[in-house]
Order: sequence, then C-alpha cells, then structure tokens
Amino acid sequence: MNFRRTLTALAAVSFLCGSLSAQTAAKTFSGASALNFTAKAVAFGMRPSGSAANTKQRAWIHSELASFGCEVSTDSFTAQTPDGPVAMENIIAKFPGKSGRAIAITGHFDTKKMAGFLGANDGGSSTGTLLELARVLAGRPRVDDLYIVFFDGEEAVRDWTATDSVYGSRHLAKKWTADGTNRKLKALINVDMTGDKDLDIVDEYSSAASLRNLVWDNADALGYASIFLRQPSAVEDDHLPFLEAGVRALDLIDFNYGPNNAYWHTPQDTMDKLGAHSFEVIGNVLMRVIPQLEAEK
Ligand SMILES: [Zn+2]
Repeated sequence: MNFRRTLTALAAVSFLCGSLSAQTAAKTFSGASALNFTAKAVAFGMRPSGSAANTKQRAWIHSELASFGCEVSTDSFTAQTPDGPVAMENIIAKFPGKSGRAIAITGHFDTKKMAGFLGANDGGSSTGTLLELARVLAGRPRVDDLYIVFFDGEEAVRDWTATDSVYGSRHLAKKWTADGTNRKLKALINVDMTGDKDLDIVDEYSSAASLRNLVWDNADALGYASIFLRQPSAVEDDHLPFLEAGVRALDLIDFNYGPNNAYWHTPQDTMDKLGAHSFEVIGNVLMRVIPQLEAEK
C-alpha cells in the first residue's frame, strides 16, 4: 500500500462456501484465532509474489478454506513487473446468496520483496483476518453472494507506481468488469495492516463516502470511535482498481505502525507488534456491516 493519490488496475471461478446446516450455532469472530492464522502465515517466512514461500502459503490458504467447507477458485496470471514476468494467483472463496447481488471482503497475502521482511502486519494480518472471517461465515445462510478475496501482488516489486503495485487487484477488477461481477457488487471492503496492537484506522478519503459513513457509524456504535480516525487522508491500496471500475469500495488500513511508522516495510514488522484485540475490532465491525449491506436494496 502507498500513501499517495492516483491510480488505475484480472481472473477467477466460483463455488460454494457455506451451505452447511443453518441450525449450526453462529460462530463468533475471534481475535485470537485471527492472530493465530497470521502467525501461521508469517511462519512461511518472506512471501513475495513468485517465491516458493508464497506458493506454499497459497497451498495452506487453500487447505484452510477447504477445511471450512469452502470451495475456492483461483485467478492466475502472469504480471509484467520491473523485474520481469512473475506468476501470481488471487484466491477467491464464494459464499453464495440468492439476491443476485454481491459483497466482497478483500486483502493481500504477498509480502514486500525486501531482505528480512516478514510482513506480520503487512500481508500477514489481512491473511489472518480473511481466514478467520471465512471460518466464521462458513455455513451461514446468505442474502447476497459474499466473496472473500486473497490478493497476490499488492506490493511493488521495486518502487510503488501505478504499474508496479496492486497487480492482483488490478487483474481481478478487470476480470470482474468483464464477467459482470463488479456490477453485482454492493460494496468491496479491503483490509490491510489492521493487526497493529496500537490500532488506528485511516479515514481513507478516496473510498466511497456512503461506505465510509456506514463503517464509521458502526465502529462508533461498537465503542471504537478512538480507533476509527476522523481525519481524512489518502492511501493507495487494493481498493483503488475497484473504485476506478465503478465499485463502491473502501480501504480499512492503519498507516501509523510504530513510532513514525517505523515498523512499516522494515524487518521490524513482526508478530510481537500485533494484538488479538485489534483483529477483533476489525472482525466485529465487518460482522456488523455485512448484514447491513445485505439489507440494502
Ligand atoms: Zn506493504
């Protein structure tokens, strides 16, 4: 992700997550469980796109989703990067609804290509949050289709530019425009770097205003007003290709990671900087917002 302003942005298949019994007691989003998934992701080591660790991590994400009863599709492509072609793959779990409309919750699983960089918060926390969300939502009846999307290639291979960044979301945004999925989306919410113990969420101002209001009102109602900041600022992230494709999209990101953001894109982005409560805050907000989005016409 990058602090900046402008930008622009590919493939998937679908399935059935969660047609288990509606009588199954609804599971609660657990911050401890999300943190545990994050630790497992980080245990793969440095996981930049195209690396062996990235491939191993993808296989693990697939196996976790399968264990929840999700069937999963992939969106594979070759990204043209400043370092040459890199094979990338987005992972998409679909929880089918009946309305013909859809909601997407997204985040990235790749880590910045940088010596000693483990990306506990940046890459790890989004992976852990999305897996916990999939675990909790599996088996619940849905109004709208719900997509949980794990993006590859969020990070710049070298320095962040419009063409060296957000490879996975640019690819899927194009594909979903072509196959009509973007037209069905009521909302797309991206999570990134939201595991910081000292959580403060940026009011990202290029995000859709109505979605910012909905999410911030819910955060306030849950008692998280001190965490969801009210000073708007711009962050470039995986939501942008969808905004540019006309999707009502929002980025939830903490861009104040350590003193003067000292843990961001440094070897200090490690598990000890994360807290289960922060995961729970984001999980509680998402679990409250999703049904409200479903209730929208
Ligand atoms: Zn990053």
